[in-house]
Amino acid sequence: MISVVVPVFNEEDVIHESYKRLTEVMGSQPDDYELLFVNDGSRDKTEEIIKEICKDDKHVKLLSFSRNFGQQSAVTAGIDYAKGDAVVLIDADLQDPPSVIPDMVREWKAGYDVVYGKRAKRKGETAFKKITSKLYYRFLASLTNVDIPIDTGDFRLMDRKVCEALKSMTERNRYMRGLVSWVGFKQKGVEFLREERFAGETKYPFKKMVKLAVDGITAFSYKPLKLATGLGFFMAACSFIYLLVIIFQRVFTNTTVAGWASTIAILLFTQGLVLLMLGIIGEYIGRVFEEIKGRPIYIVKEFIE
Ligand code: UDP
Ligand code: MG
Repeated sequence: MISVVVPVFNEEDVIHESYKRLTEVMGSQPDDYELLFVNDGSRDKTEEIIKEICKDDKHVKLLSFSRNFGQQSAVTAGIDYAKGDAVVLIDADLQDPPSVIPDMVREWKAGYDVVYGKRAKRKGETAFKKITSKLYYRFLASLTNVDIPIDTGDFRLMDRKVCEALKSMTERNRYMRGLVSWVGFKQKGVEFLREERFAGETKYPFKKMVKLAVDGITAFSYKPLKLATGLGFFMAACSFIYLLVIIFQRVFTNTTVAGWASTIAILLFTQGLVLLMLGIIGEYIGRVFEEIKGRPIYIVKEFIE
């Protein structure tokens, strides 16, 4: 059996269509399947609509959270509750085309444990989003030793083995695409065209996007922390050279000490660096705090099978 996990947050405008398209694709497959919708605390009619669908279709299941926990938590819950021999993660908005699933299944049957969707082109997204995400994936790759494929979202198929490995990882900072790379196994990418959102608006406003980005970096690299050491050495070297210059001027020339502006500029610059480093350390400490509290990653309100 194949499980298709769909995280949904305020998706009342697209849910009917994605249900229809997913059913078409999965119904034409030889394997049995389940469609597991994870309702991430939607405040619109999403939940009611899925409940209606559940009544008529045995393939459809609904897991509802007590509030909005975020897409990464929703995907985690989906993996925890899915029963399939393979689990497919897909967005509800049809930006990840369901028609790619059969290709993924084929690769899985050919022996791959993870088949991830690689975005060859992206339609209907702002130039800003495309550029920042392109830069981000490359930046992340340069920071970490984990082989996280670039231009890849959460759209992927995973074998049961991989899901069990993911379930054993209890960390709260869940950057799923990174975790899936971290566990290893035989992985392969299939390229696809990322479509426009079918309806509604993105559920990833700028703030959430930044959080996901920082989550990814802090979960898979501590190089930003090492920045302090590098910068510290650099500043010390600069100061030392400047000290020599001052001594030279004092002894061999009678130049008067330069004015106020340069002092203030240096002061502001170094203060800025110190604050930046404190901020970076804060990002990590905050996450350590989250881990230590050991709260659950999500809270289930209801599960309809
Ligand atoms: N999503 C979610 N919880 C959230 C935000 C998003 O479950 O807090 C779901 C959303 O319903 C969709 C998927 O995650 O199925 C991707 O979100 P979206 O399409 O808005 O992101 P984008 O494609 O714009 O990056
Ligand atoms: Mg989308």
